[in-house]
Amino acid sequence: MNKSKKIIISGAGIGGLTAAACLIQEGYQVRVYEKASELGEIGAGIQTSANAVKVLHHIGLAEQLAEVSVKPKAFEFRLFDTGEVMHKVPLADKHETQHGAPYYHIHRSDIHRILADKVLELDPNAIVLNSKAVGFDEDANTVTLKLSDGRRIDGDILIGADGIKSVIRDQIVGVAEPDFTGQIAWRATVPVKNLPKNFMDKIVAIWCGPKKHAVVYYLRSGELLNFVGCGEYDNWIEESWTVKAPWDELKAYFDGWNDEIQTIINSVDKDQCYRWALNNRKPINNWRTDRAVIIGDAAHPTLPYMASGAAMAIEDGAILMRCIKGNENISEALDMFQRNRLKRTARIVNGSTELGDLYHLTTKAEFEDGFERRNIAKERNEWLYSYDPMNVVLV
Ligand SMILES: Cc1cc2nc3c(=O)[nH]c(=O)nc-3n(C[C@H](O)[C@H](O)[C@H](O)COP(=O)(O)OP(=O)(O)OC[C@H]3O[C@@H](n4cnc5c(N)ncnc54)[C@H](O)[C@@H]3O)c2cc1C
Repeated sequence: MNKSKKIIISGAGIGGLTAAACLIQEGYQVRVYEKASELGEIGAGIQTSANAVKVLHHIGLAEQLAEVSVKPKAFEFRLFDTGEVMHKVPLADKHETQHGAPYYHIHRSDIHRILADKVLELDPNAIVLNSKAVGFDEDANTVTLKLSDGRRIDGDILIGADGIKSVIRDQIVGVAEPDFTGQIAWRATVPVKNLPKNFMDKIVAIWCGPKKHAVVYYLRSGELLNFVGCGEYDNWIEESWTVKAPWDELKAYFDGWNDEIQTIINSVDKDQCYRWALNNRKPINNWRTDRAVIIGDAAHPTLPYMASGAAMAIEDGAILMRCIKGNENISEALDMFQRNRLKRTARIVNGSTELGDLYHLTTKAEFEDGFERRNIAKERNEWLYSYDPMNVVLV
């Protein structure tokens, strides 16, 4: 498509910034409108497997990523009370050799900063803050992003990358309330210097227990330990990355769990415990109009159980760039994007829903009957991590 096309992106999150970097590198004019007043230090751990890391490498971020990430040696599944290691899946060199790029753990604010720096290096005016989208207008020649302060931004293509509560999605497919899964996720980080020496190997420990599980891994070159605890919860709470909850409740939630979990919980900053509601949204099949399209969480929000929400948003950015580059007609480009992304992302969304309570168990036998019998690790290697967004044949 002609390089004079003006592309508007709503939302400077992981997907919006990846799409911006990919498109600016190809010579397109891109402006990203973000509601926040600054690009700040919010969030915690994110997992990025080879399929997504290949895109970040394509953008030219290999060095910056390697500097701040952690390459875990393996997934290690442990029993909640005894700590018995039930199963191991190698990562590190094995993942890299098999799929051509590393598996990384990274702090969301680190990857976000690296992406934003890259976009601004490519075009210092590309990101416009304090710009909350409220909707869009579209006719045969133009799409117009409408902002809450009355500004109207005209362009040729609008990319809605405005996350889980996307207003661009609401306009394309209608407003739909999510279903509360009855589960919540706790999130906290601990500076490693606050933990006993050699506390845990550089692995992802997945602690499985009755009605809940915890995932623990390192971030920020190994300076931080990331703790996420997911499980059943009776009351509805807010779906937000920024809502804090009392430490006492976190402590009580994991009462009776292994000493290692107790040490982590005892070491977290008591004022920095976050808890959010895990909502489910079924896959939708229409992500576009003739000039507007949604990507990332706006298009295919997912539960976190396959650790692939950020990876899918990154893949989307690359595939959308390839579709825009390879088509003269905007509507055809957006249709090609949707055609190539619906099935794969729905598999993540549905797979994550199914996995919801796979890790909730009391014995090793239950684990063997679930995760191991279904050969989930092998399956993920075959279809999830092996995908190469820069080279996959588009249909
Ligand atoms: C503050 C924050 C913290 C997070 N922390 C974690 C974490 O610790 N672990 C984890 O696994 N995932 C986290 N996530 C979610 C994770 O980033 C996404 O699930 C995933 O990366 C998909 O990326 P995305 O670009 O689709 O959405 P996001 O990365 O969520 O980006 C959406 C962007 O759109 C902006 N936006 C929203 N509404 C509007 C609007 N109306 N107008 C303009 N801009 C808008 C948001 O401010 C945000 O910058 C976090 C998301 C956010 C926004």
